[in-house]
Amino acid sequence: MNRLKNKTAIVTGGAQGIGAATALRLAAEGATVAILDLNAERAAATAAEISSDAAVGAAGGSAVSAACDVTSEDQVAEVFGQIFADHGRIDILVNNAGITRDNMLFKMDRPDWDSVLATNLTSAYLCAKAAQKFMVQARYGKIVSLSSRSALGNRGQANYAAAKAGIQGLTATLALELGPFNINVNAVAPGYIATAMTAATAGRVGSTPEEHQKSVAERTPLGRVGEPEEVAAAIAFFASDDSSYVSGQTLYINGGAR
Ligand code: NDP
Repeated sequence: MNRLKNKTAIVTGGAQGIGAATALRLAAEGATVAILDLNAERAAATAAEISSDAAVGAAGGSAVSAACDVTSEDQVAEVFGQIFADHGRIDILVNNAGITRDNMLFKMDRPDWDSVLATNLTSAYLCAKAAQKFMVQARYGKIVSLSSRSALGNRGQANYAAAKAGIQGLTATLALELGPFNINVNAVAPGYIATAMTAATAGRVGSTPEEHQKSVAERTPLGRVGEPEEVAAAIAFFASDDSSYVSGQTLYINGGAR
């Protein structure tokens, strides 16, 4: 598919997991993708891997990378400005960077509350604000943010659930404000996806990733956990003109679980 030919996309937290799968998918559909991550080396390695991928080559897409802490307003402004200077456009923003710092409320320290809100929610505000400047000028844009099934409530994740529910409110509101400029704003809310993040969760509850995934799979209608590529496919739909009349939505990607 060539849906994103000549488009420039930014994927935050794109060095690994869902972000890396999304960067690969967008590049495979023809986009030039800028991978932003805390870990500059891993981001550069992921970008190099994507650019050398034969499938991506056929569609003409590629990836570049930049170190960026997306909780820093200064870094976001500088990196987004540089990407626009290098590529002349910013068409697509995927707000993917995220962390967990799980604990029951009575044990949840203020730094763990603050860092989860900053990384999962404030970063989306900062990046959307930086990107809309260029998108409004161009009268074109797609913003897709990562919410989570945890937005509906999850024991031990008051900070994360609040941030991911916040993403849904931010998405609905930015769709209203940016719609008149031909900018679509949507969110995806994955359930359990097999990544380093969920492997770390398994470790915290004393399970191996395999045991943890098996117990989640048993209560999921599709009988398995999700893969990063399955989230990337939905993000690519929202990033493309196939979803041109869809805005303000949150799509749950959770194997049918209620
Ligand atoms: P990973 O932990 O595998 O990847 C997250 C990436 O974000 C890492 O590369 C991380 O870098 C980067 N990152 C963290 N903080 C920052 C920051 N301040 N600035 C820039 N980059 C940062 O996570 P997943 O791929 O599993 O998750 C991706 C998104 O999807 C997250 O928003 C997550 O909340 C959401 N999600 C995930 C689900 C799952 O089951 N996996 C379910 C629902 C939602 P580093 O490693 O260096 O910290």
